[in-house]
Amino acid sequence: MKELLAETAARAARYVAAIGDRKVLPGPEDIARLDSLSGPLPENPCEPAEVLALLDDVGSPATVATAGGRYFGFVIGGILPAALATNWLAGAWDQNAAMQIMSPVGAKVEDIVREWTLDLLGLPSTSGVGFVTCTTMANFSGLAAARSALLQRVGWNVEEDGMFEAPPIRVVVGQEVHVSVLKALSMVGLGRSRVITVPADAQGRMRADALPVLDGHTIVCMQAGNVNTGAFDPAKEICARAQQEGAWVHVDGAFGLWGAVSPQYAPLLDGVSAADSWAIDCHKWLNVPYDSGMVVVRDPEHLRRALAAGSAAYLAQGAGREPWQYTPDSSRRARGIELWAAMRSLGRSGLREMIEHNCRQAKLFAERLRTAGFAVLNDVVLNQVLVSFGSPEHTRRVIAEIQADGTC
Ligand SMILES: *Cc1c(COP(=O)(O)O)cnc(C)c1O
Repeated sequence: MKELLAETAARAARYVAAIGDRKVLPGPEDIARLDSLSGPLPENPCEPAEVLALLDDVGSPATVATAGGRYFGFVIGGILPAALATNWLAGAWDQNAAMQIMSPVGAKVEDIVREWTLDLLGLPSTSGVGFVTCTTMANFSGLAAARSALLQRVGWNVEEDGMFEAPPIRVVVGQEVHVSVLKALSMVGLGRSRVITVPADAQGRMRADALPVLDGHTIVCMQAGNVNTGAFDPAKEICARAQQEGAWVHVDGAFGLWGAVSPQYAPLLDGVSAADSWAIDCHKWLNVPYDSGMVVVRDPEHLRRALAAGSAAYLAQGAGREPWQYTPDSSRRARGIELWAAMRSLGRSGLREMIEHNCRQAKLFAERLRTAGFAVLNDVVLNQVLVSFGSPEHTRRVIAEIQADGTC
């Protein structure tokens, strides 16, 4: 085992060291070589070191260099040194983070990260938090809590009695709602197509003046950080209206909520802490490994009621927060470890600097594209730059050539 892990470390270090020199997107020949991983399942075992070598030799060249510094395609994120290192240690620990009794350290780091995150993002300190795989699942979990809370108000227990014949719930989304919210709505039985869609302005922000009448059986799904433009829905107006009229506000804040750590960008999030639930990605701007997201719900009881399992005699409850009562999954890896490590290593100022540096890079990117004569289509308010190279066909051709070139 010791030699195998040392060999793994050496190979990983080589990969990381070379990431700055390679093409960002693998070539067709690299992808074709992946076929040597296939073939019929071998009848007999082989040495783990051989398996590792095969994967590295064939797999590494076919990776997309998203962890390097020249990847600008999607909102994805890289990996911080402390996050990668502790991910390896956590792999050796092989903890099941479902319950305190299965992993005291897994439960403890979640408690700490819960507290740090609520403080960093300016969200209510007593909120319930679930450590999920991604923002899609955070949206799912937040909407499950919303559904549970709104139906409970009218005397319907959705966990016991389901959605058949349940009193209706209205869902309001912005015109540029992220597809993951629609997916989550489909999974919690609220439906993709039943939504009321509010028109957006030129930056993709939901227009608060176009909100329909809200009420106590309405969920408003707003967005903090549009994936194309970086723009924020007007949280202050939306939350004030919702509060007045008794509606639930869910915030898809995958990357945008992290803007709250910077005094420079926090004003974009003005009013967002008045919502009822929030979905956050950690594998994006916190730069921890996949899969990592958080759902935050103002009243922890709504999240717990929506996601807690029924009782099974052998699964004893400890005192305090039981991690699996706040997530859709039961057994899972202790993904709180890398969150703890990322925050512990960056500190408040490091996190702020990482976000601000990234936003400065976006501004520089936009400036140079403009200087070169290209049209930047969005107001660069955060980390997103949306560029056109002319006609749609020409833009597509330029993008294809950039990707084939591999510099970025
Ligand atoms: C990335 C993103 C999502 C989806 O996140 P996953 O982690 O891929 O599930 C949802 N909403 C917004 C605004 C995003 O940027």
